Amino acid sequence: MKTSEIMAMLQAKHPGENEYLQAVQEVLESIEDVYNQYPEFEKARIVERMVEPDRIYTFRVTWVDDRGEIQTNLGYRVQFNSAIGPYKGGLRFHRAVTPSMLKFLGFEQTFKNALTTLPMGGGKGGSDFDPVGKSDAEIMRFCQAFMLELWRCIGPDEDVPAGDVGVGGREIGFLDGMYRKLARQYNTGVLTGKGLTWGGSILRPEATGYGAMYFAHLALERIGKDLAGQKISLSGFGNVAWGAAKKATQLGAKVVAISGPDGVCEIPDGITDEMIDYMLVMRASNRNMVEDMATKFPDKARFIAGKKSWIVPVDIAFTCAFQNELSLEDAKQLKANGCWALFEVSNMGCQPDAIHWMQENGMLFAPGKAVNAGGVATSGLEMTQNAEHISWTAKEVDDRLHHIMSAIHEQCVRYGTQPDGHIDYVKGANIAGFMKVAHAMLEQGVI
Ligand code: GLU
Repeated sequence: MKTSEIMAMLQAKHPGENEYLQAVQEVLESIEDVYNQYPEFEKARIVERMVEPDRIYTFRVTWVDDRGEIQTNLGYRVQFNSAIGPYKGGLRFHRAVTPSMLKFLGFEQTFKNALTTLPMGGGKGGSDFDPVGKSDAEIMRFCQAFMLELWRCIGPDEDVPAGDVGVGGREIGFLDGMYRKLARQYNTGVLTGKGLTWGGSILRPEATGYGAMYFAHLALERIGKDLAGQKISLSGFGNVAWGAAKKATQLGAKVVAISGPDGVCEIPDGITDEMIDYMLVMRASNRNMVEDMATKFPDKARFIAGKKSWIVPVDIAFTCAFQNELSLEDAKQLKANGCWALFEVSNMGCQPDAIHWMQENGMLFAPGKAVNAGGVATSGLEMTQNAEHISWTAKEVDDRLHHIMSAIHEQCVRYGTQPDGHIDYVKGANIAGFMKVAHAMLEQGVI
C-alpha cells in the first residue's frame, strides 16, 4: 500500500471532501510502514475497504419553527465500520455539517472505539440544523422530526448514536422519547448519554473531559511531571470543556482560558466551581457566546473579542471545540509563550501542519482519538449497564474509565515508542486502532 496512491484514488472519487480526506491521510501515513509488513492485509485489500463507510443514510427533516414557518434540514447517519461491534458514535447538529464532516468523524470513531477495548464499531450522524438561537420547543420539534427518519436505521445491537457538538442531554432526551414512541421499546439502550432516571450512566456527561485529564496525567507521569500546578487553557465551553475544566481543577491544575465563537475569556486566577457550573447555563441558553462568562463574573474573567484561547500563555493546552481549530500560527504562538504540551480533545482539533510542527519542535502532542475516547468508552459502559438492567455507582464507572484510559495509553506506548525512547502518540493510537480493526476484518472474510 502506498498512501499517495490511495489518496489519489480517494481524491478522484470524493473531490472536495476535505475533512474526510485529511483524516484518512493522517491515519494512512502513520500505518503505512507497519501495514506493509503484513502481506495478508494487502491481499485482502484491507485499506481500500476500510476507508469507505459501509453505508450512509441521508434523509430530509422537516419541522415547524416557533413562528409557524416550515423549515427543512438534511439528516445523515454514516455507518462506517462494524467489524468489532455495532456502529457507535455521536450525532452532530451544526450548520456546517456535511457528509464529508460526518465521514471524517465516522472514520476517526472506528479507530477510537477500537482503542477503548470495548466491542464497538464506528459511526457518526447529524444534521445541518443550527441550534444557535433556537427555543427549547424548536429543538424538541427538530429532534422528533429527525428521529422519525433515523429510528429505522438504528438499534441496540445494530447502531447506537449519542451526543456530539450541538447534541447534549436535552437533545438525547427528545430523541430517545421519540424513539420509544415509534419503536415501542423502553429499555433498549439505543442511544447513550441518557438521563439518569431513564437508563443513563452516571458520569457519562463528564466522561470525555475526565478521560482526557486521566490521559494527560498518564502522559505527564511518564516523563516525571504532574498536572497539579500546571496552567492550562481549554477551547470551547460546551460539554467537553466543562468536564475537562472540572477534572483539571480537581487535579490541581489552573484553567486560565475558555473560548467561544465570539472570542476568549481569560481567567487569570483560574476557573472556579461556580464558573464551571455556569458553563452549563451558557450551553443551555443556545446563545453560543463565551462573553456571557465575563458578564456574569466581571472580577474574574476578561473577554477578548475575536481571539482564540491560544493567545493566553500556559504550560499545557487542550483543544475542546471543533476540528481544525488550532493552526500552525496558533501552535507557534503557544510555544513562544511557554506551552510545551498539547492534548487534542476535539476530534481532529489541530491542522496537520500544526501537528507536524509541534512534533518537530519537541512539544508533547497526543491526538483526539486517544485523548477523547473516554466519552465513547463510557457510552460503552452505559450499553453494558442497559444490557444487564443495572446501574453502577460513580466509583464503579470512574474506576472502569480510569482502567480504559490506562489501556489506551499503554497501546499508544506499545505502538508509538520511537528508537530514541519518546512516544509518538499519533502513530501509537493510529497503529493500535488499525491493527485491531484490520485483524477483525481479515478474520471475517470478504464481506
Ligand atoms: N461524540 C463523542 C465522540 O466523538 C461520543 C460518541 C459516543 O458516545 O457514542 O467520541
